[in-house]
Amino acid sequence: MTVVYDRVALIGLGLIASSMFWAIKRGNVAREVTGYARSDETRQTAREIGLCDRVCDSAAEAAEGADLVVLCVPVGVMGQVAAEIAPALKPGATLSDVGSVKAAVIEAVQPELPDNVHFIPAHPLAGTEHSGPRSGFAELFDNRWCLLVPNEDTDPEALANLRNFWEQLGSNVDEMDADHHDLVLAVTSHAPHLIAYTMVGVADDLRRVTDSEVIKYSAAGFRDFTRIAASDPTMWRDVFLSNKTATLEILGRFTEELFALQRAIRRGDGDQLHDYFTRTRAIRRGIIEAGQDTDAPNFGRGGRKG
Ligand code: NAP
Repeated sequence: MTVVYDRVALIGLGLIASSMFWAIKRGNVAREVTGYARSDETRQTAREIGLCDRVCDSAAEAAEGADLVVLCVPVGVMGQVAAEIAPALKPGATLSDVGSVKAAVIEAVQPELPDNVHFIPAHPLAGTEHSGPRSGFAELFDNRWCLLVPNEDTDPEALANLRNFWEQLGSNVDEMDADHHDLVLAVTSHAPHLIAYTMVGVADDLRRVTDSEVIKYSAAGFRDFTRIAASDPTMWRDVFLSNKTATLEILGRFTEELFALQRAIRRGDGDQLHDYFTRTRAIRRGIIEAGQDTDAPNFGRGGRKG
């Protein structure tokens, strides 16, 4: 493990930033980490639990003099926070983010930045349904993908350093362009979250009819949905508002397939259902073979999601 940056600033001190901090300390990846969050309460908690070497009272103060600044705030406020810190950024510094959507973040952040700063967006595909400064842990990124989103003007050395940084945090690193990222994530994360939110909402309506049976006899499928649907409301509101086109495209396809399965059930077309479920089972096997989940029967529970 080697020091990649002298000073790293984390703006926003929730699940992702706190996990980054503990992973940085685990691997001695930076000499000093400064941090800032919007509320007094979060800054106070961070000081109490030793989250960051120095917790600052403004985003600009945290960013000042940092070699790498990472925006770890909800996607909807990335542009506003970039504007706050822009005057304080050190020439030659790298600015990155961890937002779950990329095209909208680039559009909001890029115009706020001086020319002498390297902006390289990123997205670690790792998370849990918990949020806040106490929810982080050093192992969150281990063996998870982190996607970097450079463009043709990105400085190769700045890119190599950021790649090295995420690798030292435990991630596997890949590069992707912003629109492709947003489409892939709409399939793998954003649409599934919306479906989970919907299913839990439907069950909640039903609960009024069946009292507590939905909760009492909650089987694996529904329990997994409730875990996903417990995710932070602000973060997910911003994800859907910022990745509108790709999410709507995938939900359109999802609805068509759902109608097809609905028709198969109505017609009693067991072959169609069996073929479909055989195909989807193979996808699950592929995920396990790629090392992105375990074959344990309680998969997902108490674990991670991207
Ligand atoms: P989180 O636990 O809810 O933390 C968000 C942090 O941002 C909080 O410390 C909050 O401060 C701070 N914040 C909000 N608005 C701010 C503002 N205007 N200025 C400064 N700080 C502000 O969120 P998270 O799960 O770490 O997510 C952070 C980012 O990572 C999001 O963009 C999300 O899309 C992305 N991401 C999340 C996951 C996941 O599964 N959770 C996975 C990958 C990427 P207060 O505490 O003071 O409110």
